Amino acid sequence: MKRLLCFLLCILFLPVLCASGEGTASETLTVHFLDVGQGDAAILQCGGQTLMIDGGDRNANRLVYSYLTETLHLDRLDYVIATHPHDDHVKGLATALTVCAAGTVYSPVTEFDGEGFRDFLQKLDEQGTEITVPHRGDAFMLGSASVTFLSEPSGEWDMNDQSLVTRIVFGNTSFLFTGDAAWDAEQDLLESGTDLSATLLKVGHHGSATSTCQAFLEAVHPACAVISVGAGNRYGHPAEETLMRLEHMNVSVFRTDRLGTILCRSNGESLSFEMTKKNGKW
Ligand SMILES: [Zn+2]
Repeated sequence: MKRLLCFLLCILFLPVLCASGEGTASETLTVHFLDVGQGDAAILQCGGQTLMIDGGDRNANRLVYSYLTETLHLDRLDYVIATHPHDDHVKGLATALTVCAAGTVYSPVTEFDGEGFRDFLQKLDEQGTEITVPHRGDAFMLGSASVTFLSEPSGEWDMNDQSLVTRIVFGNTSFLFTGDAAWDAEQDLLESGTDLSATLLKVGHHGSATSTCQAFLEAVHPACAVISVGAGNRYGHPAEETLMRLEHMNVSVFRTDRLGTILCRSNGESLSFEMTKKNGKW
């Protein structure tokens, strides 16, 4: 299959202000933010284990397929997190499960009326795998990185606000994935009193104005942020207000619509980035 991600643009290093941390030996945590257009998809690898968080919409199918098989040569995903069942997050996960066996699979719901989630459930059924609905404080290890669920979704909320929120800690670096959580969910996270701080924030809801409120952003206090968003999308994402809030906090922003697929590596002390530029459409 034609390779479509090809130009290494730059590598930069961001210092992390911490004195000491748990030993991570020579392990590295690698986070691939796939350029899936308007949607989210990330693949995390550490200590020989793989976690996929969301998979993008149907237009991401080809990229998800080639990235898993040709770039990463994977046939197993130890952990899968569907942050919520909307197509722009879960449709590509169904594709991922056509080429990869899934270990533990997390979702905030087990039923949802949507094409992508139906496909996702069908693939899980074919593999004989059931969904685990996690609760606040549940955690697992990905290599020597800890992955903790911070959200306790309410069924009364909008589905975006039911997004599973995870904080991933590797040495002195940390990552916060928020799916499409908006202000109600952010407010609940703030009131929970849990540690929301993160070196890198995957910005909620593709940079929508209704996510990443000021108080939440101050609690996370990220050094850098990734916005997974499609160029020229009909929603106007990312919103100017969100970009301004990030700018005022001096957060380094990386956007998939401008930079293509983004690779972030943590050595436990600092993050480094590689950006690939789209070479035409895939
Ligand atoms: Zn979304």
